[in-house]
Amino acid sequence: MKIVVAGTGYVGLVTGACLAEVGHNVTCVDINENKIQKMKQGISPIYEPGLDELLKKNNSNGKLDFTTDYKNAYKDADLVFIGVGTPEREDGSANLDYVFNVCKQISDNIEKDCLVVVKSTVPIGTNDKVEAFLKENLKNKVNLEVASNPEFLAQGTAVLDTLYAKRIVIGVESKKAENILKEIYKPYNQPIVVTNRRSAEMIKYASNDFLALKISFINEIANFCEIVGADVEDVAKGMSFDPRIGDKFLKAGIGYGGSCFPKDTKALHWLANDNGYELKTIKATIEVNQNQKYKLFRLAKQRVGSLKGLKVAVLGLTFKPGTDDLREAPSIPNVRRLLDEGAEVVAYDPVGEDNFKIIYPNIKYVETPEETLEGAHMAFIFTEWDEIKKISPTQYIELMNNPILFDGRNCYKINDMRNFEIDYYSVGRKAVLNLKNKSNKEVAATIM
Ligand code: NAD
Repeated sequence: MKIVVAGTGYVGLVTGACLAEVGHNVTCVDINENKIQKMKQGISPIYEPGLDELLKKNNSNGKLDFTTDYKNAYKDADLVFIGVGTPEREDGSANLDYVFNVCKQISDNIEKDCLVVVKSTVPIGTNDKVEAFLKENLKNKVNLEVASNPEFLAQGTAVLDTLYAKRIVIGVESKKAENILKEIYKPYNQPIVVTNRRSAEMIKYASNDFLALKISFINEIANFCEIVGADVEDVAKGMSFDPRIGDKFLKAGIGYGGSCFPKDTKALHWLANDNGYELKTIKATIEVNQNQKYKLFRLAKQRVGSLKGLKVAVLGLTFKPGTDDLREAPSIPNVRRLLDEGAEVVAYDPVGEDNFKIIYPNIKYVETPEETLEGAHMAFIFTEWDEIKKISPTQYIELMNNPILFDGRNCYKINDMRNFEIDYYSVGRKAVLNLKNKSNKEVAATIM
């Protein structure tokens, strides 16, 4: 059976590589020639642990191939997985142009019966439209069917999430499509949830939006903890022992980012509105997250008044550890605000620097967290990379001009920080203000 995967981003490439790893013959198609050339040499164009090894192995054993020649790729495909992007439009709805471009390429070129499987996250009802579009535009007389197979991998753990997935969801309208997909996924030996296409599409949005809701919920509780003198880390821990709640996605911070939660919350909210229904919990999730993003920036402004001329250390750029993806990373708008205020930004990230340079070519980048801190007047943590969590409180004191730390990811235990002469602001916990001998004005004065 010839499997083609359209799109070699975080989803398409990992899907293709893992399907090859379990023994299928896979051709990955992308429109980006640069990416294809890299992958042909067994080099992953994205940072994803374990992926390089899979590419090298399955490239050399002939199970995995890469091409921009979509005509030949689709011509004799038995199965095409669509894994292209569905980014956010300005109004919050999902942009399906990439999906339908692929559909046009398939319908123009397919010469045999084929199952088209939509892996991209798409609004409820899209699979029906994709099938109608394909059938209307077919150039050759073939039987074609569409199935939904949403993806649940998380960046940073994508390979393991795929090879050891908690479940596979398939949305089908025929037993034939169900059997084909079950056969494809048999080697994974994972639970398969079979439903119709619309329910599968909804499962994806409902899952992502629920996780985003959980984050916004704990962030709101964190903000209230600060007002009433509770500690959100202890609160989350106390909650997590209840198996109905669990311990995942209960980490307070400066909000979620990434290529999925922001757009998928907005897309579902938009879709509900379009259907005359208001999803109130999702609306609140989005609003809380938007507000949370600038929480520490606002505190920094309050702390020193003006940021003009300050050397600000930025620790962590990617939206979370384990990925080089910057999409919707809180670092981006925060650095914008810091620069607009006239601060001098020095940034460190173990893998995100190259992508950040595309957005901010003129800020200073350094190779180690320590270099970032040298002479800084304040520091922000935006991503909880291990390299950043390893910085000891004494290093902040020794290296910085003023050890004022705004920790957007609660990397340190508050009780530990209380023992140091440092000002430490985190999320959902009382700030540690140990720079007693320096008033706000004095700190500001050392900065000028
Ligand atoms: P991405 O932006 O990383 O990759 C998309 C790829 O598609 C790019 O390489 C692009 O060049 C390619 N492409 C565009 N048009 C093409 C065409 N006509 N033919 C072939 N390739 C084409 O996207 P992603 O992050 O992998 O996400 C893809 C989809 O999966 C989205 O709908 C997303 O919501 C969903 N999803 C993403 C994640 C994640 O963690 N990134 C997880 C689950 C689901």
